[in-house]
Amino acid sequence: MSDLSMLINGLQVQAAQGATFERRNPLDGTVATRAPAASPADAVKAVEAAAEAFKSWSQTGPTERRMLLLKAAEKLEAKVPQFVEAMATETGATGMWAGFNVMLAAGMIREAASLTTQVAGEVIPSDVPGSLAMGVRQPAGVVLGIAPWNAPVILGVRAVATPLACGNTVILKGSEACPRTHQLIVEAFQEAGLPAGVINYITNAPQDAGAVVEAVVAHPAVRRVNFTGSTRVGRIIAQTCAKYLKPVVLELGGKAPLVVLDDADLDDAVNAAAFGCFANSGQICMSTERIIVDEKVADEFVRKFAAKAKALPVGDPRKPDPVVLGSVVGMPTVEHCNALLEDALAKGAKLVAGGKSENTLMPATLLDHVTPAMRIYKEESFGPVKGIVRVRGVEEAIACANDNEYGLSAAVFGRDIARAFNVARRIDSGICHVNAPTVHDEAQMPFGGVKGSGMGRFGGKAGIHEFTELRWITVQTTPRHYPF
Ligand code: NAD
Repeated sequence: MSDLSMLINGLQVQAAQGATFERRNPLDGTVATRAPAASPADAVKAVEAAAEAFKSWSQTGPTERRMLLLKAAEKLEAKVPQFVEAMATETGATGMWAGFNVMLAAGMIREAASLTTQVAGEVIPSDVPGSLAMGVRQPAGVVLGIAPWNAPVILGVRAVATPLACGNTVILKGSEACPRTHQLIVEAFQEAGLPAGVINYITNAPQDAGAVVEAVVAHPAVRRVNFTGSTRVGRIIAQTCAKYLKPVVLELGGKAPLVVLDDADLDDAVNAAAFGCFANSGQICMSTERIIVDEKVADEFVRKFAAKAKALPVGDPRKPDPVVLGSVVGMPTVEHCNALLEDALAKGAKLVAGGKSENTLMPATLLDHVTPAMRIYKEESFGPVKGIVRVRGVEEAIACANDNEYGLSAAVFGRDIARAFNVARRIDSGICHVNAPTVHDEAQMPFGGVKGSGMGRFGGKAGIHEFTELRWITVQTTPRHYPF
């Protein structure tokens, strides 16, 4: 069991009155972590520390920021064993998922390091004689990052890396489901030598999230907010940010379609679908949630896909045998997925792999003949229960892919690349891959969704746009003419 502290102004601190909350292991209910339960007043102290540190951090040269970030990437990578242990204990994740998280997250820090010299501007022709006019990007101020538990290292790092590279100071609000995992990220940055107050870490009890977040957003020093999590909470955060006029990046839920056209390489499509559906037990925002298959190839595709799904090993991630599906994050996921399954079966879907679960070790589960009348057609399962929809031809496939409130990731499989590409162009999503899985993230790519999946983009230069202020600055170099 880990007993945690928060990090405010470079100091490890507890919450006022020593308030704490517990995170329990999803599989056996033992206490995994005890973490400080910040009050709104505690959270404001983190903002004050970050506001003070901003005065000097925003003035540091790009090379200094780059070197510190590169060091942080190394420190993060050195913590793989701690991340594996913390993620298995707090969220039930497999070692494979933890290792991948750290690898991509270290890449994100290195990509952010490379951006420090890209926070630039331009000289813009002015109609005023002698006016040297510039559009200049500069750090915005204190940035609040809120990250979820499901890809905790990637998303916790993403919430702070580019903001720091741009010269902002940050507060990471850890997830209640993985406070230790998120703390390890902050430790890596601290060990790299970031000055006190540049990165701060707060944790809160679940029932206090709204009040703590509002206290931070309301503070005048906070100039940007980024949130990764559910669409339901994203709406609340957007409303809070609107109240205080704070720009916000929202990376929310998904219901990614994977379209299998009639000329697809079915083995390829099956491998991509299995990876997209069941990596991290389907608990990824880009998880393949809807497999949309042309009826001409549906029987063969489903037969192959079901065989593959049935063979995927499930088990306690803390045991030595490697598994593909570890424990899901908690019983609410099991209950939600069981309810989606029962509803679909009652309305005529056919179970082709897996089935209902009694505990958090859920098998890879597939439902064929899913129709719009079933809840699983529209609702995010965020677990290893996924639906297959059979369609007739390209137009029906596109209509089905777009028949959803979300629009984060998507995939299209077909051997006629031009046709598959044109299908990809017509899908309403921020991200779409031809002949590759819906689950795919790289540090330098513009990552984000449309519709109910959110707004704004992380990754590469898109991140600079989100986490800097673009200012118009002029210098009058000759006497200026005035009308009076
Ligand atoms: P969640 O929305 O339940 O919780 C995320 C955060 O919201 C937590 O830190 C919590 O403290 C905070 N929160 C809860 N209530 C709040 C309130 N009233 N006011 C302010 N903050 C509040 O999400 P989750 O269950 O942790 O994560 C799963 C969801 O995240 C899924 O829907 C998934 O698709 C989505 N997700 C999206 C992306 C992406 O990049 N688009 C990535 C990963 C996960």
